[in-house]
Amino acid sequence: MSAMADHLRDLMAAKGPLTVAQYMEQALTHPRLGYYMGRDPFGRGGDFITAPEISQMFGELIGLWCVVQWKAMGGPDPVNLVELGPGRGTMMADVLNAGRGTDGFLEALDISLVEISPALKALQEDTLVKTPAIHTARSLSWLSDFSEIPDDADGSDGPLLLIANEFIDALPVRQFQMTAEGWRERLIGPDDGGKGFQFMLADGPPPDGVIPPAFENAEEGAPEGTIVEARPAAADLARTIAERLSRQPGAALIIDYGHEESAPGDTLQAVKAHEFHDPLEDPGEADLTAHVDFAEFCRAAEKAGAQIYGPITQGAFLQALGIGARADALMTASPEHRRDIEQALERLTSDDGMGRLFKVLALASPGLPPPPGFD
Ligand code: SAH
Repeated sequence: MSAMADHLRDLMAAKGPLTVAQYMEQALTHPRLGYYMGRDPFGRGGDFITAPEISQMFGELIGLWCVVQWKAMGGPDPVNLVELGPGRGTMMADVLNAGRGTDGFLEALDISLVEISPALKALQEDTLVKTPAIHTARSLSWLSDFSEIPDDADGSDGPLLLIANEFIDALPVRQFQMTAEGWRERLIGPDDGGKGFQFMLADGPPPDGVIPPAFENAEEGAPEGTIVEARPAAADLARTIAERLSRQPGAALIIDYGHEESAPGDTLQAVKAHEFHDPLEDPGEADLTAHVDFAEFCRAAEKAGAQIYGPITQGAFLQALGIGARADALMTASPEHRRDIEQALERLTSDDGMGRLFKVLALASPGLPPPPGFD
């Protein structure tokens, strides 16, 4: 029996069954036992692989996006460059490498990495120390929560460029199931044998306002058994970013897997060693994510005053930024890597790879031109 399973059972014995969000939060980010907290989950020997780990082309194009966006904002110096959930730090390293050709860009950067995991923070530090371009930036610091996104040194908010790849899918979701009595929150408690865990339903209805607007009026239309999801932390994040963009010039680029329109469905999934896994088995030992509801994220961001662009598919976004030309240039420079580059291009952009399931959303300050890739 794992220490995490013991911990969860103790918690359930003391407080009763957990919401799916509480379970996810414990399993992923418990300070001592959480999945992300003490390991490097990425790459072939790990549990899953992300776009920046597939090819340098991904982070380089995000870097060019930042440069063009920075210029559209008038080239402010200083400017905050914030990355949420940087993993191994690979994307930030590629972003900085791509920024080397632009006068004044690296010199203007106050870089903040928002990372909850001490193990990954150490990996990010290792990666970035080895990236010469980082030494040109004004500053580099770490924050553990996105609500701490920095203000300028003089205390006012500074201009902002924010990037996040596969961050929101790790934020906890709550689930609600339609029953003969209406919506009930889905909970996780000990199973009958007392060894594992099982789903169960709350006795009474959820409090007002926790079910996303797209679903709360579907009471009559939704058949029994329908499951819907809400992600309060994502709505908070959308509001935090959008309020900031309505006060100060800037833009945010959010890349993640999920659906454009709010849709019912249980999307909680666990992945271990590149295979799907039962989310209730081995908590703390498998990655646990759920689809991002982009429509819900956009609703929260728009209400808080940001201009919304997209979401568009990752395939369309990378093509618009010129991934084809970048791949050709890399293949000409290193013909011996032609096959790897072709495979990476295919994986990042094709409908069967990450090209269609992954979406790209930009938020920008009102009054700025459409960000690159969305014009
Ligand atoms: N962007 C990276 C990693 C994605 S995995 C890549 O594309 O490879 C999710 C990342 O978010 C990890 O770095 C994880 O430790 C971090 N993370 C997860 N939940 C977090 C939270 N609540 N606050 C801050 N960081 C978090």
